[in-house]
Amino acid sequence: MTPPLVVAVDGPAAAGKGTLARKLAAALGLPYLDTGLLYRAVGRRVLDAGGDPRDPAAAVAAARSLSAADLDRGDLRGPQADMAASAVATIPEVRAALLDWQRDFGRTHGAVMDGRDIGTVIFPDAPAKLFVTASPEARAKRRWLELQGKGVQRTLADVEAEMRARDAQDAGRSTAPMKPAEDAVILDTTALDAEHAFRMALDVVRARMGA
Ligand code: C5P
Repeated sequence: MTPPLVVAVDGPAAAGKGTLARKLAAALGLPYLDTGLLYRAVGRRVLDAGGDPRDPAAAVAAARSLSAADLDRGDLRGPQADMAASAVATIPEVRAALLDWQRDFGRTHGAVMDGRDIGTVIFPDAPAKLFVTASPEARAKRRWLELQGKGVQRTLADVEAEMRARDAQDAGRSTAPMKPAEDAVILDTTALDAEHAFRMALDVVRARMGA
């Protein structure tokens, strides 16, 4: 039997992969899974307990006791949550604790999954893989505008510096570093609006599916 379709959408922060993955999921009739939420929820649990997200024992305990309700929390975004997520994500045992759950989800329902290592580690055999990126300046500007829209006052320079630090940590870790899979199609959204990026991505998926 053909396994349900998994589409991997990887890439750095604020490249537009969440919006794109959601639209693709709706168009393809598949569930959408934001895998960054898993790492965010682990980081948040460690912070709540007064721990350090870089501490493997605390982070692994949090990852192993994660529940679905943790993913619905309203405080999983923001600079502190960003860096806590990226810190716990460097710990191999944390990644291992979250791996089966992600694979089971994709195998059971099919999915469009957004993350950093979907095409390289979680579903290396996914038939359709996109690596969505954009210039650091464009990504920082998008994130800054998003924060402004929420009434969060930050300087553009601070937002860009934090984003570059997180990218460096995500791309530089030894386990499952953020990088395009060899068979991923790179989609640079620097000069694309969301609709244009979506149409290009859908073309890629259809071409890969032979449709
Ligand atoms: O995608 P998002 O910005 O929500 O991810 C938060 C953090 O979680 C990333 O900076 C990265 O460190 C980690 N992450 C990961 N692997 C994934 C998804 C997210 O390491 N598949």
